[in-house]
Amino acid sequence: MVLTPLKTTQKKSVILEKVLKPDFTCKNISEKLPFFYSDEQLKCADFIYKYYVSSIGESLKLFTPFSSEFTCKKANYEEKTPLSLSKPQQNALKQINQNQQSLLFGSTGSGKTEVYIQKIKEVLHTGGNVIFLMPEISLTPQMKKRLVHHFGSLVALWHSKLSKKTKEKTLSLIQQGDIRIIAGARSALFLPIKNVKLIIVDEEHDESYKSNQNPRYNAKDVSLMYANILHANIILGSATPSLNSHHKLPVVCLNETFFKTKKTFFYEHAQSEITPNLLNHINESLKNKKQTIVFVPTRANFKYLTCKSCQTTIQCPFCDVGMSLHVNINALKCHYCNYTSAVPKSCQNCGDSMLEANRIGTVEVAKNLKEFFPDANIQVFDKDAVSTERKLKKILKDFNQKNIDILVGTQMLSKGHDYQDVALSVVLGLDNLLNQPDFKAREKALSLAIQIAGRSGRRGEGKVYMQTKNEEFFSSYINNYEQFLKDELQYRKNLYPPYKRLLRILISHKNESTCKSILDELASLSLPQNVELVGFGKSTLAKIANKYRYELLLRSSSATALIKTAFTCKRPNVQIDMDALSFS
Ligand SMILES: [Zn+2]
Ligand SMILES: [Zn+2]
Repeated sequence: MVLTPLKTTQKKSVILEKVLKPDFTCKNISEKLPFFYSDEQLKCADFIYKYYVSSIGESLKLFTPFSSEFTCKKANYEEKTPLSLSKPQQNALKQINQNQQSLLFGSTGSGKTEVYIQKIKEVLHTGGNVIFLMPEISLTPQMKKRLVHHFGSLVALWHSKLSKKTKEKTLSLIQQGDIRIIAGARSALFLPIKNVKLIIVDEEHDESYKSNQNPRYNAKDVSLMYANILHANIILGSATPSLNSHHKLPVVCLNETFFKTKKTFFYEHAQSEITPNLLNHINESLKNKKQTIVFVPTRANFKYLTCKSCQTTIQCPFCDVGMSLHVNINALKCHYCNYTSAVPKSCQNCGDSMLEANRIGTVEVAKNLKEFFPDANIQVFDKDAVSTERKLKKILKDFNQKNIDILVGTQMLSKGHDYQDVALSVVLGLDNLLNQPDFKAREKALSLAIQIAGRSGRRGEGKVYMQTKNEEFFSSYINNYEQFLKDELQYRKNLYPPYKRLLRILISHKNESTCKSILDELASLSLPQNVELVGFGKSTLAKIANKYRYELLLRSSSATALIKTAFTCKRPNVQIDMDALSFS
């Protein structure tokens, strides 16, 4: 890295290659900086910018460069706490060691973590270092605890919530060779750590690996590429692997349950309602002094407020979405732009005062349950309730010490927490997920149901209660995710990943006619023969934070053709989303 003069300022720059001196006058480099990117980082940055249709500058900005001020003197690893793996775990490890890439497929409680830890030990013994990615490390203190238990000060955590000071300290420890395992969110992939011989991507089905900013990379796919460049091994792991990974990678199954569990499933044809049947199940769990978790897809009290006479939903003035009702602050809040307003007394459209709240959320479910079970300790577990790491730790601690009887939460409930004594898992509002206009809707809904169900009965018998009008779908696959993957593959043929790649081009601007004219221009571009324009027009969320949104969806089985097309669509106010996962 160097400093180069640009007009009146000095800019940090990166030297990528030597070229012949051009004819025009050139300025000299002002200063050599004590930072550099490794060849591997440069190769990976090159892949990211080309594949995700960004620029090399934006791509390099993801990486933290090496500092030339450090000399690396690799800390020794001494095994303190040996592990003994079960037969299935030993077999899994053996298969993992035969491949450069593997997908470790094992249900909750099957002991994937022990396999990771044993593999990490092997790598440390041979002098290699490790990157361990988790979707939301700040949400998973238990994994952190286990890694620290086995590797002590050789392991460091990395995520966006760390203070600047902690980050700086961690960076110097990494480069001095004192830290040999980096565990963290997707940005951990880009740290200056030498001699990486293993990358682990845990909970690989989790969509938060995909960045929603330019470059819109998927850390899981970048990890696969980076492991190749580094000649390192890579393990993706999940209880509900994505169809893509399952189709593309060597699968290592770890499905003999580690703690033998028996699970019973109950279905009710309802949608997010507090029914007598549901109350009975919870009552029984409380009577047996067992804990219950309740999943609801929505936070706050209600997702919408609708007028009973004209059916108008109260919308955010800046977004094309309904405002959610938060009773505790007596306000409506937009979950997209955070705009907050007082709860209106009457409909803005027809003036009628009969407003009805729809789509029950976490806070309201907790409130209703409290009326039926006044003695039970009921807590909410969502983005609003868990706003800091401290609050998260407190809730998890209270729950694991059995001070909480019922935990009502959103998707956050499924994020890899170990709940020791849950006898009942309740899943509400599944059909809202299943009916989303998204080719992955079935995969996401089933995967979530399995993840939540997996939280009950880790030790002993567990019950799972689900409300859905699609009982057949869930009951046929809930115990057989592998069969689901097989059937789903048939449905995706010629249409969707893994057979085809999808490119979403999103146009957003304050002025709607600007959006439209860009859309018209892009839609009329001539496409290569093997790229298909699936559709174009207004996005499902037609406005967010006062910006209109239009989009085009393109499809191809050729990555090269699709990337080429994407580069021709690049212009201001246009976002390119390769392998898009979000379609709203
Ligand atoms: Zn009305
Ligand atoms: Zn809004």
